Amino acid sequence: MTNWLLMLRSHYNFCLRDRIEAYEQVKSPKLGNYSDLKTKSTCCPLTCSISNKSQLGEAFKKSGKKRNAYEMQSSELPFLKQARPWYKSIHSTVLQQNLRRLKTAFENFFDGRGYPKFKTRQRFKSFSYAPNQVKLEGNKIYLPSIGWMRFFKSRNIPDGFQLKTVTVRQKADGWYISIRIESKDIPQSKPKDLEQIKTGVGIDLGIKKLVALSNGELIENPQFEKRLSKRKTIRQRRASRKKRGSSNQKKAYAKLARLDQKIVNQREDYQWKIAHHLVRLADVIVLEDLNIQGMIKKCRAKQDENGKFLKNGQSAKRALNRLIRDCSWGNLTEKIESVAAKFGSICLKVNPKFTSQKCSHCGHIQKENRNKERFLCLNCGFLADADVQASVNVGIKGLKTLGISQSKLLRVPQKVTPKPELTGSKNSDSARSWGFPPGATESRREISVSLEAEPGNPQQLKLFEWVNGEAISC
Ligand SMILES: [Zn+2]
Repeated sequence: MTNWLLMLRSHYNFCLRDRIEAYEQVKSPKLGNYSDLKTKSTCCPLTCSISNKSQLGEAFKKSGKKRNAYEMQSSELPFLKQARPWYKSIHSTVLQQNLRRLKTAFENFFDGRGYPKFKTRQRFKSFSYAPNQVKLEGNKIYLPSIGWMRFFKSRNIPDGFQLKTVTVRQKADGWYISIRIESKDIPQSKPKDLEQIKTGVGIDLGIKKLVALSNGELIENPQFEKRLSKRKTIRQRRASRKKRGSSNQKKAYAKLARLDQKIVNQREDYQWKIAHHLVRLADVIVLEDLNIQGMIKKCRAKQDENGKFLKNGQSAKRALNRLIRDCSWGNLTEKIESVAAKFGSICLKVNPKFTSQKCSHCGHIQKENRNKERFLCLNCGFLADADVQASVNVGIKGLKTLGISQSKLLRVPQKVTPKPELTGSKNSDSARSWGFPPGATESRREISVSLEAEPGNPQQLKLFEWVNGEAISC
């Protein structure tokens, strides 16, 4: 299997090179612009059928139909096996799937994602079989051209399911097989109708608290990378001190890779659990549309007039970037989306602009509203945990886009309102909670507060009192 990976990688890179060259020929100004002869349409060099071709293989099918690049490269495979007989040991569908992978890479590029890359050994770790090739019996699996082998059956394949594409993947701690299964009897899960929706939840992603829900729930961030960072440093140091190229060094690096694998496994497991928890909780899940790549960007270099580089805070930013990467919000969002799709829940992303500054109670937006983990509206005095508050805003935004009433958003249950002690002969019935004062939107009044106090701290009550529906700052 390791040999296969080496051969498949070189074939992948060869075919990628072939497609790049075919594309360069079209782009080259010497050759002029090409037009499709059949449709007579002028073409854009990136997406036209001519640039989507290879120099290998036959350009036309026997029926006279044009082949696309994948089909052309695929028709070349018999000649490859003649010229390089060792490729005969690889199963033919594996070679085809390898070309399909390149095709998908190019399709992604045409959709606006990055250009396909040449694969290094570290980036090429898997191969796959086409459907209906692999057989399963108990804890044995038949991989064509490799043979029967035992494997650890982590879960049973339910009755009535057919095996589709089978992917064999090399990881630091061994080889893994992932099997795609399909049953035609089970209908595709559809997202729920808007009338069926009973509850919605807003979600705010963070570092200290990985997930804050609009119902007040906070999910911890275990910081898996940080937890094992000491052990990782030790292993890195040990590996780097071994003799270069020795088998001892190889072993040491393998051990380091297993630790990295462990971190990934722990994180994945935790994220799946969170995703299932959220889907069980609500029918609509509203997420933030975060620009994570932008958040972990390097600081811009600072130079003085002589061109000397000044400190730009990058060393401090590096630690933060590491923390952000450890959260892997992107993976978490993907998992939430996939679990939501599976159970027919709706999952949507909204622009997170102002969600952490806006008061979810009165709608007042001010940067000073937020102070670290605490949110205090300087307009109406609404007090809440900053992350939960932001998640409420995210939820409201999401439900608004869907056109669902905001009452369906899961929110913090209203606390038993503590009655502030009133001095003098004030009517105690008029004393109202400082948390959600009714009619507070009308009384616009600047309130100066000490920002050291914690939410829920009885001292906070002394900040202002409600007398006859009016706030008096102390
Ligand atoms: Zn407010």
